[in-house]
Order: sequence, then C-alpha cells, then structure tokens
Amino acid sequence: ASAAAQDKELLVATDTAFVPFEFKQDGKYTGFDIELWDAIAKEAGLKYELRPMDFNGIIPGLQTGNLDAALAGITIRDDRKKVIDFSDPYYESGLAILVKKDNNDIKTAKDLKGKTVAVKIGTATVDFLKKNVPEAELKLFPNIDNAFLELATGRVDAVVHDTPNVQYYAKTGGEGRVKVVGSLKSGDYYGIAFPKGSKLVPVVNKALKTLQDNGKYDALYSKWFGEKA
Ligand code: GLN
Repeated sequence: ASAAAQDKELLVATDTAFVPFEFKQDGKYTGFDIELWDAIAKEAGLKYELRPMDFNGIIPGLQTGNLDAALAGITIRDDRKKVIDFSDPYYESGLAILVKKDNNDIKTAKDLKGKTVAVKIGTATVDFLKKNVPEAELKLFPNIDNAFLELATGRVDAVVHDTPNVQYYAKTGGEGRVKVVGSLKSGDYYGIAFPKGSKLVPVVNKALKTLQDNGKYDALYSKWFGEKA
C-alpha cells in the first residue's frame, strides 16, 4: 500500500451489538473483533476511527465507499464477494438455536416449523431459514439484543443467530434462563470486509498473518473464547 493510503484515518465499521466480537462495555466498544482490528492497525501502521452501526447498514456502506473497512463477524459468502472484498478468513463459525431453558420441543431446524423465530435483519441466518425452514415465522430485528429480549419475554419461541454469539449470550447475559439447543450450520468463516478493489486487503492480510504467526491472534482468541478445542 502507498504511504498516502496509510496516512488517512480509516473509517472502520463494526456492529453495535454482537457479543463477544463487539459490544459496549463501560461506555466503550470492546470484543474480539475490536481488539483484533486494533492489533492489525498497530501492526500495519493504520490510523482509524471506529463506527458502530446496525449490521444491516455495513455492506451498503462499504459498497458506496463511505466505509473503509468493517469487522462485524461478517460471514464470507460468494454473493457478498460480488459486491465487497474480504480478508483471509479469521474465525470459524456457524448458526445455532437459542430457546428458553424449559423448552423441550425445539432441538433442530425442522422443529422451527410453525414457530416464531427472532432473527437479525441482513444476516446469514435470515437467508438460511428462508431457504431451509420456510415454515418458520420470522420476526426481524436490527439489533440482536432486542431479539434476545423477545425470547426472554416469551414473544418468540427461539432466536437463531451465529453460534459463538448465542453461546456467549447463554453463558453471560442469558442469566441461566436460556439454552443453546441445536447447531444448524457449521463451516462458516468470518472475514474483514472492504469496498471492492480496496488496496487495504493485502495490507490487512499480511498483518493478520503476522499476528497468527507470532501468537497474538491466539492470545486474543483464548481471552475471548477460551482455549481452542
Ligand atoms: N455472521 C452474520 C452474517 O454475516 C452476522 C453477524 C452479526 O450479526 N454481526 O450475516
């Protein structure tokens, strides 16, 4: 990358709420994505400003070039690759179902038929359920915290979202009232996203590789997710 590209302060989008990748704590954003990006920026000598926003606005913001990069546990998919660029994969993920602790009817995707399911607008979950369980009634939320609230108050039967997010929520925010039942999908990968043709892609990939080789990536991984199984 040219020195000019690196002198500019980059506008880097992140999701408003996606534990434990990005979330607000004591008035500041923290999480795996936030700390990984900060380490990448230090490694590559990039200056940036963080811009939390609803997930749904991120890919359009990259497409118009209003954003320089984004980390939001964004699943790398072929359809998205047509409109934005991705870094190398940095996290393996999937989708899982969250229900109330006393719910014993929902265990797998087919059990969601005829049920009301809270999901987050613009995410891979929406496409997955429309395709695989079209009989589920989806209630769409811009912010997953509102979907979790909807489950807590019993207005939906389940929440479906990214596995690490629902697992973390069940362990922390769920206060023992919810449980993760079924893994619907695995083998998804998250990538850092950029406008198409961004010169930052190789710069970021190189820094990511350095952090993976020197143990800093692993240190962040175990800080946020525990030791790798
Ligand atoms: N991984 C999901 C997707 O890319 C969204 C994750 C999130 O809610 N931030 O669609």
